[in-house]
Amino acid sequence: MLLQTERQEIVHFGRKLLAAQLTTGSGGNLSIIDRQLGLVAIKPSGVDYLEMQAGDVVVVDLAGKIVEGRLKPSSELSLHLELLQARPDIQAVVHTHQVYATTFACLGQEIPAVHYLVGYAGDKVPLAKYATYGTPELARNIAQAIGQYNACLMANHGIVTVGKSLEAAFNVAEEIELVARLYYQGLCIGKPQILSQDEMAVVVKKFATYGQPQAAE
Ligand code: 13P
Ligand code: ZN
Repeated sequence: MLLQTERQEIVHFGRKLLAAQLTTGSGGNLSIIDRQLGLVAIKPSGVDYLEMQAGDVVVVDLAGKIVEGRLKPSSELSLHLELLQARPDIQAVVHTHQVYATTFACLGQEIPAVHYLVGYAGDKVPLAKYATYGTPELARNIAQAIGQYNACLMANHGIVTVGKSLEAAFNVAEEIELVARLYYQGLCIGKPQILSQDEMAVVVKKFATYGQPQAAE
């Protein structure tokens, strides 16, 4: 089976999206690229995360042609391919309808630096213009809005996150949901205080060495 490890990871992190309440049913999607092979493993469209098996994950080339898999790829295939091609620094893309971040996407508002953990995305979470789900126009809007950020809200839809691994992209989604919740709650009872761009630049730099040092390969 092509990209077996990557397909298993998609199943694993799909279940984690459900467990972390970042998605419901078959909403959202995940992908990983193997840049050497020029192949992408992506969630099949409309399949329940709890039912999904590694063999259900679809493998496509960079033009979106199915190379292996019986099922139809995610309807957001063009969005995943566009980001994986626009950002050579990333290997994985996650899209969810997580409730607090999507609340701001529905208000047409970015998420500012209300908590230092927004640094998982950058100095804020930018917002991409609305377009119908699954369209090349939506893919273009997001590629334009995300720039070098690791997350981007999708107006009236959800959020996209990216990372050097599927785990990294998942972590961005989870931490940004916490930040969005804090911002929402702060707005309910007062005036959230926003960190300056200078403070956020310090945090983003410090995140590069957060956690345990990477073992040399
Ligand atoms: P798929 O099930 O086709 O991946 O679509 C879910 C979704 O979130 C569309 O934006
Ligand atoms: Zn969606």
